[in-house]
Formats: sequence, C-alpha cells, structure tokens
Amino acid sequence: MHFTVRSRAAVTTVLSSSLGKRHLSMSRARTSPITTFSINGDRLWNDIHHTAQFSAPSPGGVTRLCADDNDKKVRDWFRDQVLALGADYKVNATGTQFALIQGTDNTIPPIAMGSHFDTVATGGKFDGPLGVLCALEVLRSFREQNIKTRAPLVAINWTNEEGARFFPPLGSSQVYAGQSTITAAHASYSNDGSPETMGSELERIGYVGSGPNTFEEFPISAHFEVHVEQQSSLERADKPVGWVEGWEGMTWYEVVFHGADGHANTAAMHGRKDSVQGAAKFMTSIETLAHDMHGRSTVTAIESGPVGACNIQSRTKVVFCLMHADAEGLLEMGRRAEALAKTAASIHGLGHAMSRTLHLLPGDFTPEAVDCVARACGEKGVGARTLTGHDSLETLLVAPTAMVFVRSKDGVSHSAKEWSDKDDCAEGALVLGKSVLNFDEYLLRRK
Ligand SMILES: [Zn+2]
Repeated sequence: MHFTVRSRAAVTTVLSSSLGKRHLSMSRARTSPITTFSINGDRLWNDIHHTAQFSAPSPGGVTRLCADDNDKKVRDWFRDQVLALGADYKVNATGTQFALIQGTDNTIPPIAMGSHFDTVATGGKFDGPLGVLCALEVLRSFREQNIKTRAPLVAINWTNEEGARFFPPLGSSQVYAGQSTITAAHASYSNDGSPETMGSELERIGYVGSGPNTFEEFPISAHFEVHVEQQSSLERADKPVGWVEGWEGMTWYEVVFHGADGHANTAAMHGRKDSVQGAAKFMTSIETLAHDMHGRSTVTAIESGPVGACNIQSRTKVVFCLMHADAEGLLEMGRRAEALAKTAASIHGLGHAMSRTLHLLPGDFTPEAVDCVARACGEKGVGARTLTGHDSLETLLVAPTAMVFVRSKDGVSHSAKEWSDKDDCAEGALVLGKSVLNFDEYLLRRK
C-alpha cells in the first residue's frame, strides 16, 4: 500500500499585524533555517532514558530483542509520539514503522531519517535507539520552529537491524532494497534454536502491517542515519560528531559439520566422527587467518546436537563473520576460510556444508549526501568510516545515503557500558536536522 502524499500549496507566512513582530518575521524569513535550527537536547536525553526502560532486566543496558514484548512497548510509544505530531503513520509487513510528515511539494519522494529500536542481548542505550530518537527530535523541533521542508520527511524504525534474535540482520531494510523478500524475512530463524520466526513473533505483537515494503512502493529521496560510532576515531580527534564516508567489507557465513552419532563414554576415541572437534579446529584457524591477513573474524554462534549428556555431537553449526578493509582481501579471506573448513572436516572424517549468508563489499556512501552531513557538522565534526553493517548500507543500494556518527565513550558498544554524552547526542540530532535541510536545498538546486 502506498502512502498518500497530498499535494498542498506552499505554506504562506502569515505576518503579524504588529510592526515590531512583522519586522522580526520578515528578517527571519530571509535567514536560512540551517543557521537558526536548534534541537531540544533535554527532551532527546529524556527520550533515550525513557525508552531504555522498555527492556528485559539488563543493569545499565538495554535488552530489547526484535519482536519481543519490550520491542512492542517501544514501538507503541514511537507510534503515539509520531501520531501526536500529526504524521501519516504506517507499519509494513516486516514490522517497519514509517512516520511521514508532508512537505511543501509532495510530488518529491520524502527524505528519510531512520535507524532501529531493536538491540542485541547485551545492548546499550544508544546503538540504534539514538538514531530513531534523533529523527523524532528533528520532526518535533522542525514543527516547533515552523521549519517546513520542500520534500516530505519520513522517520523510520527499521525492524531487526541487529539480527540478534533472528538471522539474518538488516531484516527489513534488505526487503526494502530488493535484496530479500517478505517471505524470506518472515522465515528468519531464531538464533537460539527455538521454533519462533521473525514473522510469527511480529504477528504475535501485532506488527505485521499493510504499509509499503519496498523502494518501488515507497521511494525516498535520501536516507540519513544517526548512529553511535562504536569505535574511537571521534574521541581521538576530540570531535562530538562525524560524517561517515564509507564502511569496511563484511561477510557472514554458516558452516555445518556432520559427523556420526555415538556414545560419549563407550565409543573408542580412535575413529570417532566428532563434529565439535572439527568445528573447534576451524574456529581457531579463522582467528589466525584474520591476524595473518590484517582483517577481523568473529564466531557469532555455535549450535551442536544431539542434545543430551552422553552423546558425541554429530552436528555442529558455526556462524561467523569476516571483515576486511579491501574487497579483494575480504574475498581472499572467504576463499581461505572455505579451505580451512575443508581441512578441519577431513581431519575428523566429517562432511561439511558452508554457505555465505550476507555479503557486503567495502564501499562509500553517496558523495552528495555525505557532503550534506559534512557541511552540517562543520568544525565540530571529522570524517570517519564504519566497521559494521547498518540499515543505511541497504538504503544506499536504492537512494542517496549518508550517516552521522556520535562520539562513543572508549568505542564500546553491544555492551551495557555503551555511552555517549548528552551534549554529543544533541549535536548528532542537530547535524541530522541540518543534513536534511542541506539535502532539501540540494534537491531544489538539482531541479
Ligand atoms: Zn545499530
């Protein structure tokens, strides 16, 4: 289903009859909102801490897995906030929430500001929520300051960015960018082996909607995302914010080692086909591989069976990711990892099957959009690169995209220790709003 974007005549400024006020309004009309725009840092900070309460017990942090009861609570809260702003609100089939605010020319696709409310199991208060809350703060501040963009604006809460509960990550933005389907996203399986899928759990919390699912159904002019940096380059540069130039490559794989069932106590050691032993050799070998190739590797999940106290494990699944700054380096790491899996399997007489589940070559965000963020940052910012995936890597496939980084204390994330200062968060929201205004102007100039 499409959003209905109503055509509306340009908003005319009604000047006060009082001469003094009239003078003030006219001089303000000549000043670009980019120079006068401000945001309410107290309100943003309150929102960060208020929404952090929608969490399973997690001292100092947030545990809000995709489509769990707390995810429903934060989604309901977000819905109430954007409805109070008069937004045209929709939820799509993969649970993503859209809050559309009309512009003065609604023939233009909206400029999007998005991120995610879901967290990992050991999440902090900032990774994800900060981006959605900054988008909300920009919409609120624009309204209060009577700033009307030419293009409509849309704030987005993307579903299952983290992939912490259901694999794969970027669950809904992949569908939006045409890289996956609703059916595949609904079938995203539980990482803990439980029978729930992303689709069944979204259905349970009432977040399978009829809103737009793909770029074709609901095109955007651009996508901007505020995110905590999750590393320390801004801290080292002593800057509160940064413009993100691009990302390093990353690929997720899953390898399953198949052995043979047997009694844990009575089977002879010689001739066992123990899949855990093959998997263990493989896991240490990809750590060495990352050191050798100046990349990174992480085993993110291990699952073995049959479950029981007295069984040789005949099946072990290992999920892992590889990262490298260069495309060729990343591809070479993948080729070597395949050879290492084959070696580990043959040493233990195991069968194995390896598949690549998510593949992002290194790349750069859209120069025009990055320029809008860089100008919005001014001297308060510095260029940076992200070392991980974001929904913005998916939107980039269909629309100009850029990200705003906010300084992270000690670069820590996916931890209750994740922290960004109040003033830095406020600066991030300010840069987001100014980036949107810059892009709105860019669209006008391009026309
Ligand atoms: Zn994130």
